[in-house]
Amino acid sequence: MGSASYVIGLGSNRPHGTHGRPRAVLAAAIGALAAQGLTIRARSAILRTPALGPSIRDFANAAVLMESDLAPPALLALLKRVERAFGRRRGQRWGARVIDLDILVWSGGAWPPLPRRAFSGRLAVPHVALPFRDFALAPAAAMAPGWRHPIACHTLRQLEARRRKPRPVDRRPRDQ
Ligand code: ATP
Ligand code: MG
Ligand code: MG
Repeated sequence: MGSASYVIGLGSNRPHGTHGRPRAVLAAAIGALAAQGLTIRARSAILRTPALGPSIRDFANAAVLMESDLAPPALLALLKRVERAFGRRRGQRWGARVIDLDILVWSGGAWPPLPRRAFSGRLAVPHVALPFRDFALAPAAAMAPGWRHPIACHTLRQLEARRRKPRPVDRRPRDQ
């Protein structure tokens, strides 16, 4: 099977016992992904993002562009193994976490293939929240600006530009 490209989103808002603060955790996690055989092609700048949901500390977020022969489910299993190796516990969705590794986009388009829709909790690529989360979209757009979202039908560059644009308060129905 030919190599596929992926953009992986990384987030951390808890220090790690040996790696230290969140931005150092991200750097260590990227090293762990490379050690697992993934070919890292590029890494974004690290963003500092106010926490979403019940977490207290700010997040460090970034994205990497990488290549792998793995299909999305096998890559997700690898990412979950790395999260566990960094001491992430299950069941703290949106809570404070030492590392979160999400598959944001894949060169193969959508997983599961369209028109099958994933149901809650199951792997869905592109990540369902990607168009709505600046902390994921901005680093992803830096890694793959011309990649076209198969459902939103815009490139990541376009999706990001739309979020930056001020919106009129009084929108007409056709704009909604
Ligand atoms: P969110 O998905 O809102 O970013 P989270 O990353 O905190 O939340 P996790 O606890 O890391 O959520 O993962 C919960 C489940 O999300 C995983 O078991 C996985 O099956 C599922 N999931 C669905 N789509 C993806 C994706 N694109 N990348 C990673 N996990 C995904
Ligand atoms: Mg996540
Ligand atoms: Mg996750």
